[in-house]
Amino acid sequence: MPGVGPKSAQRLTYYLLHVPQSQLDEFSQSLERLKKDTVLCSVCKNVNETDPCSICSDGTRNKSQVMVVEQPLDILAFEKTGKYKGIYHVLHGAINPLENIGPDELYIEDLLKRVSSIEYPVSEIIIATNPTMEGEATAMYINKQLKIKNLKLKITRLGMGIPTGADLEYADETTLTQALEGRREL
Ligand SMILES: [Zn+2]
Repeated sequence: MPGVGPKSAQRLTYYLLHVPQSQLDEFSQSLERLKKDTVLCSVCKNVNETDPCSICSDGTRNKSQVMVVEQPLDILAFEKTGKYKGIYHVLHGAINPLENIGPDELYIEDLLKRVSSIEYPVSEIIIATNPTMEGEATAMYINKQLKIKNLKLKITRLGMGIPTGADLEYADETTLTQALEGRREL
């Protein structure tokens, strides 16, 4: 598992040995259902138990503001700040020529279709890809594609606070809030 070395794995195993059997059963059942009970939201491509997901089907969210993120975990990070009231679009990765990931491997076309739809009029796209080379390349590509469409749309990119090369998933709530508030127009 990512981020878990042999030592951590050992520690977790010994920890689990001390957990009551009933809790272990619950854990194994959750694990069993993990893939069976989750679906990709047809609107935003977030991983959720329902389609549309709980965020897309929430009537209090501002549907005209769409934040584009690389991974579903980035949504969790922004939701924790409690400051963002719009909805999301998950790309499931970033453009990475070295690993043969081009725009077609990501949900970029779905995003372009989504912003052109009359059903869900969008007024702002916040590009919140990671401040890495891949994330920047993805942001530039999406910005270009959106500009070609010539829609009446504000396109913004997250502002200061997030160090270059960092992963949004690991940024703390204050940093993410600052980045959101300091977003600049592209
Ligand atoms: Zn959704």
